[in-house]
Amino acid sequence: MSESRDFCPRCGDPVPERPEPLPGMPRERDDVLCDSCYFEDFDLVDAPDEVQVRVCAQCGAIHRGNRWVDVGARDYTDIAIEEVSNSLGVHLNAEEVRWGVEPEQVDENNIRMHCHFSGVVRGTPLEESIVVPVSIARETCQRCGRIAGGYFASLVQVRADDRTPTTEEAETAIEIAESYIAEREEKGDRDAFISSIKRTPNGPNIKISTNKMGSGVAKQIRERFGGTIEEHPTLVTEDGDGNEVYRVTFVARLPRYTAGDVIDPEDGDGPVLVRSNRGRLKGTRLTSGDPYESEFEEGERPEAEDLGSVEDAEETTVVTVEDEHAVQVLDPETYEAKTIPRPDYFDPDAAMVPVLKSQSGLHILPEEVVDDEDEE
Ligand SMILES: [Zn+2]
Ligand SMILES: [Zn+2]
Repeated sequence: MSESRDFCPRCGDPVPERPEPLPGMPRERDDVLCDSCYFEDFDLVDAPDEVQVRVCAQCGAIHRGNRWVDVGARDYTDIAIEEVSNSLGVHLNAEEVRWGVEPEQVDENNIRMHCHFSGVVRGTPLEESIVVPVSIARETCQRCGRIAGGYFASLVQVRADDRTPTTEEAETAIEIAESYIAEREEKGDRDAFISSIKRTPNGPNIKISTNKMGSGVAKQIRERFGGTIEEHPTLVTEDGDGNEVYRVTFVARLPRYTAGDVIDPEDGDGPVLVRSNRGRLKGTRLTSGDPYESEFEEGERPEAEDLGSVEDAEETTVVTVEDEHAVQVLDPETYEAKTIPRPDYFDPDAAMVPVLKSQSGLHILPEEVVDDEDEE
């Protein structure tokens, strides 16, 4: 025989010669069958018998693979279409594939998904329609279950050194925690949540989902206010593998003195207006206007006498400027003229100046109190 022919290995019919497969691509066993044997058990579409969509009734997350994922606020029908579409497969040999799905709502939790396919295989146009039943199972995802159950792995306590945090400090610390967690949530971290915020007379208690995030929140609070962080781990339980599980309390302790406080470091050079207490305590001498910086490291505090704060300041009349070191003002309580130190921030043209009267005497305060770095 001079003519070389191929034969169908199943029925023995001659088949037209097929082009050799591309180099490196094996010839599929089915590729050598004749058309009628090939189509005998050919499925254009591979589809599951049914699809179950597990959705969280609280947050709308859906269960995919072995985890819950956020899909945003969307219609369950849209989600069903997407889940069915992802589960459908079209035969690799099909060309010019067109397809569409059409949902038919049966009841609140059941959708019949009508799927239509067309394509060309071996030059033959094919069409296939199938129906995939979809059921919606409303559940509670792990995250919502944990939030509802008050689960937390770390407790951030906002406190202050030898005083209680001010309302402003407490609210700012809470905002820091909320935005820190919100940022992680937005990035898709489903482990990020705050399970409760309690405003106690000693300062806020914030319960947070993981130790790592509790630590992160405490650090951000220290970043903003200065002060220290104490960590107290408590053994809560052992997990299924016998590993010890700790819950950690982070105490973010705000510094004793903050911007606006007036203290006497008792070094003989007079009172200091505190301007910043992140890292080392920094301020301004009320006697000279010179800058002051504590020798103490972060978290420690100098032994100092608390003289009050800028909120205790009163405006008083300048009587006369005596020389470059002294100025005469009226004592705001007794109205006696008093000679007091003249700091370099004193404006000699001023008729009125803010002064603070304390146990170390009368001192002129600067108009600008807080360093820029302490402002948002
Ligand atoms: Zn055949
Ligand atoms: Zn949920």
